[in-house]
Amino acid sequence: MEPFVFYNPTKLIFGKGQLEKLSEEIPSDVQNVLLVYGGGSIKRNGLYDQVINKMNELNVNISELSGVEPNPRLATVNKGIDICKQENVDFILAVGGGSVIDASKTIATGAKYDGDAWDLVTRKATPTDAVPFGTVLTIAATGSEMNAGSVITNWETNEKYGWGAPPFTNPRFSILDPTNTLSVPRDQTVYGIVDMMSHLFEQYFHQPTNAPVQDRMVEGVLKTVIETAPKLVENLDSYEHRETIMYAGTIALNGMLQMGYRGDWASHNIEHAVSAVYDIPHAGGLAILFPNWMKHNVDYNVERFKQLAVRVFEVDPEGKDDREVALEGINRLRDFWTSIGAPQTLADYDIGDDQFDLIVDRAMKRGPFGNFKQLHDEDVEEILALSK
Ligand code: NAP
Ligand code: FE
Repeated sequence: MEPFVFYNPTKLIFGKGQLEKLSEEIPSDVQNVLLVYGGGSIKRNGLYDQVINKMNELNVNISELSGVEPNPRLATVNKGIDICKQENVDFILAVGGGSVIDASKTIATGAKYDGDAWDLVTRKATPTDAVPFGTVLTIAATGSEMNAGSVITNWETNEKYGWGAPPFTNPRFSILDPTNTLSVPRDQTVYGIVDMMSHLFEQYFHQPTNAPVQDRMVEGVLKTVIETAPKLVENLDSYEHRETIMYAGTIALNGMLQMGYRGDWASHNIEHAVSAVYDIPHAGGLAILFPNWMKHNVDYNVERFKQLAVRVFEVDPEGKDDREVALEGINRLRDFWTSIGAPQTLADYDIGDDQFDLIVDRAMKRGPFGNFKQLHDEDVEEILALSK
């Protein structure tokens, strides 16, 4: 393992009815709150009213930024920053999924930065302060509720990057009541499952180092998600399965599993380039790309892919060579994602190869990437070609 320090300052408040704790989690000296949310799901399922009722127990002014889009855009973040500056916002409450939370992280830091918030996203500048923020999570997927990452799209330049600056971009608290995810429709439920599984794969394919405890933990979470996901998509009203998947999504990317090594993260990088050009759902892109990243790299470390196949996808290695076992594991992953309704090819989103050059350019913008296996232009081209 590499030397590491683990510090996660987010207070995780998990379980049925935990929204009750919202007012006591907001510091008593807060005067002006910015409530950030998405396209209206929280109004339709009643969560908006519940949040407002709790906030009304406090003596605070509430401003709102609504309409944060999936794949949140810089222009929307800038609107939030303007509100913070005009209204002297001293606490931000994000009520939504990864998009709302990611946008809130860049708003929180951008509000305390004099230049263009895009400087923070592109790491041209480093934040030195932030408006504190908390979250109420409504969809199980990204882990953003308990990590420092924020993924923002600049639609004018077709760039989408992840960034983060702990502790400024860590939520102070996150309230996770699985009840609030019962209204997530089937397609978004599947995307969330694909995203959390992809986070687990990104970590499983880490730089070469000794990490057997971490490997077994990642395998355990993956197996639990694989067992639970089909039951959940058949019964979206199951509190128990929502609870399992919600906890899995948080644990998959809150740093607990990634101690002592760096994960790969190349598939995420390519996906960000695809959705910066086509604005498709993040995990839709991952479902298409990740198995092809695996196929592209299988010979680089066939042992690693074999381990995944045997331990997670229960491939029987008897009578097969390592490569066959590894490829069977990758095929089982593809079949599993297809069985729960995830897309398989870029054509499923009507994406042809006409913009591949732009996607490759955007993926390579910050140089070769991938900690398990470093990728260059030709690798990205091949993974895209496999994904057509
Ligand atoms: P999302 O983009 O936040 O939400 C997806 C959709 O689900 C929205 O249309 C939203 O509707 C709807 N939705 C959310 N909660 C709902 C509920 N309870 N009932 C009904 N509909 C609901 O999804 P996400 O997967 O959590 O976030 C994706 C973003 O996170 C991408 O930009 C991705 O790149 C990024 N990401 C971040 C990290 C990280 O660590 N920070 C990791 C991976 C991905 P409304 O808008 O109407 O609410
Ligand atoms: Fe992701």
